[in-house]
Amino acid sequence: MHTPPYHQWMEQRIVNVPVNNLWAGLLAVEGLWLLPPEQQSALQEQISERLKNTLGEVGDLCFRMQHYDFLFVVNQAHLSREDVGRLSEKIAECFHEPFILDGLIHHILPHIGMASAEFEPFTIRDWITHTQWAMQQAREKHSIYHVFSVEDKNLKSEQYRLQSDLKQAIQHEAFELHYQPKVDLQSGVCVGAEALARWERPHYGSVPPSVFIPALENSNLIVAFGKTMLNTLSNQLQMWRSSNIPMVRVSFNVSAVQFNNDESGLSSFERLLRETVTNNPDILLDVELTEGTLMNDLNRSMDIIHNMKSLGATCSIDDFGKGFSSLSYLKTLPVDCLKIDKMFVDDLCESPQTEAIVSAIIFMAHQLNLVVVAEGVETEQQYEKLRKMGCDQAQGFYIAKPMSAPDFCIWLETHLQKHREIGYDDSGVSNITSLARKRS
Ligand code: C2E
Ligand code: CA
Ligand code: CA
Repeated sequence: MHTPPYHQWMEQRIVNVPVNNLWAGLLAVEGLWLLPPEQQSALQEQISERLKNTLGEVGDLCFRMQHYDFLFVVNQAHLSREDVGRLSEKIAECFHEPFILDGLIHHILPHIGMASAEFEPFTIRDWITHTQWAMQQAREKHSIYHVFSVEDKNLKSEQYRLQSDLKQAIQHEAFELHYQPKVDLQSGVCVGAEALARWERPHYGSVPPSVFIPALENSNLIVAFGKTMLNTLSNQLQMWRSSNIPMVRVSFNVSAVQFNNDESGLSSFERLLRETVTNNPDILLDVELTEGTLMNDLNRSMDIIHNMKSLGATCSIDDFGKGFSSLSYLKTLPVDCLKIDKMFVDDLCESPQTEAIVSAIIFMAHQLNLVVVAEGVETEQQYEKLRKMGCDQAQGFYIAKPMSAPDFCIWLETHLQKHREIGYDDSGVSNITSLARKRS
């Protein structure tokens, strides 16, 4: 494994010093990378000057690390965690005064992670990663500093184990897809399904996507994961087609990190979709993206959606209304469908305010020629209300929970049989799955 140069610097700091005297700190200076390189160096000099003055005799400083962070080592006997907290506050104080560079004022926001050297088995690498973890905690909690604790150590080990299990799961294609139907609210007929990832973690049991998706995103595994999931979906749809199982358009979720990832200047997601459609030209796909994902770079999102549509896929905005974004993107982005977030469906029947919001979303979507799907429909009352309000489609436990591929097939066959008995002709199910609104 490659050893960065500051390891050596750290090693020199600990020679002949009792470990219980030693603390390491990592100071992240936010936004430094936005400046031109000469200004970065000049500002780093100023920051390091102030830090040296604050640390005084007890501390040593190393800077120009990757990511513009400053690493320091404190060597002082009998420092308690509280003392370390006070020292961090003192360091933060030296940033209160703005920095002046070429006549311009720079306000710098620091985040500090502190970790003791007193842990077994001690390694420099672990010591540094403890400070990195602590600094990240400070950042996430919007605090100035965080002192690495036993709880952090347990959490960090668990995260490491989780990431390593996820890596294995991707390699062995151990994730499954479950399918949850979407029905047309006027006819009650299934017009699509959403594919949702499921994972049985060895020795742990089932782990929900709300746990493993963020872990995949944080460890850059999400792109590889997204690839295996789309392959699984494509194979499944090909198998259903060859077994003459009625086709429905299947939606799949694409995380922000996956959607915004570029490889050699090209969208890796778009490339993946192109490969999938080339291998399986009859595939009917819908891509679910959240508002936040699309807003990251509107022009880029617009290009990708245009290209997605030229490949025959449709695009839905997931969790609509949950985020906090401007509606103006709706007139620019060529999306097909809005999925009203479950939060609005939950109290739709109790709250006139929610009803007014849902009604406005449906009206707006129809004016823009978009299909509206309500998510998380759990009761007959909600289903009926949405139907009367003119919502197009519904998805939720009231209709069916997400099911394994074989269970979904059985469900779909029984469901279609029931509708055939009441005169519904499913000879072209795939036709009715088109998301395009056919309004008279
Ligand atoms: P989502 O895309 O909003 O998916 C809907 C979630 O609501 C699913 O949770 C589904 O099981 C659940 N759900 C559906 N109907 C009801 C209902 O009536 N009541 C309740 N209480 N829940 C309902 P799930 O499967 O746990 O997935 C959670 C989230 O994880 C998804 O939210 C999606 O953002 C993400 N996710 C799942 N699979 C994938 C995947 O393959 N790739 C990516 N990137 N994200 C995924
Ligand atoms: Ca979704
Ligand atoms: Ca959703």
